[in-house]
Amino acid sequence: MFDTQKQEVLNAALKLDRYGLIALSGGNVSCRMDSGEVLVTPSGMIYDDMVPEDILVVDLDGNIIEGERKASVDTEALLYIYKNMPQVNAVIHTHQPYATGLGLVMDELPCNLSTMANATEGPVAVAEYGDPGSLSMGVEAVKAIGDRLAVVLKHHGVIAVGRDLRQALFSCVYLEEAAKTVSVALSTGMPMATMTQEQIDEAVAVFHRYGQKPIDQDA
Ligand SMILES: [Zn+2]
Repeated sequence: MFDTQKQEVLNAALKLDRYGLIALSGGNVSCRMDSGEVLVTPSGMIYDDMVPEDILVVDLDGNIIEGERKASVDTEALLYIYKNMPQVNAVIHTHQPYATGLGLVMDELPCNLSTMANATEGPVAVAEYGDPGSLSMGVEAVKAIGDRLAVVLKHHGVIAVGRDLRQALFSCVYLEEAAKTVSVALSTGMPMATMTQEQIDEAVAVFHRYGQKPIDQDA
């Protein structure tokens, strides 16, 4: 069941590892099928050791439809996001250090880079703390995310969302790149240049015309 999509979930998880957004078994990747089921990575498995059969198929109530593994501990929170954000078909949760670090010193990550505007569609809010592995993590994420494609989870990590895995992946990877760049700017102690709302809006619009059709998953 959903063999191709399970491989896509695994490919996305391996990219998180490659880009330094997670370590070992941290975070999770999930996506919603057209028929409503959700594919989710298993709990506590190192991504390099994972095979597509390890990806679980669950329904929106958390019942396991297929899979022998224990689903991610965050599954309840992830399902809350899917239930409350019908436009979202992919959720990636990371522990990416730069964006998470900025979330410890600011309530909103500013959108000062065109790539971040492209990928997250504006400034990224920092959600109130919700216990990892509990429903509250999903509740706080939904409360704070607005119409952006990412939210920082205070003291924890990042949730990135998208209409598909590619959009969620671009969101968290480019958010981390932007957070690194902002960290460099802040480290100088000098005032940071900001983008105007018009510049942000244009960068968001440009990205809607970006890339190949059909989407190249290796972009
Ligand atoms: Zn986590």
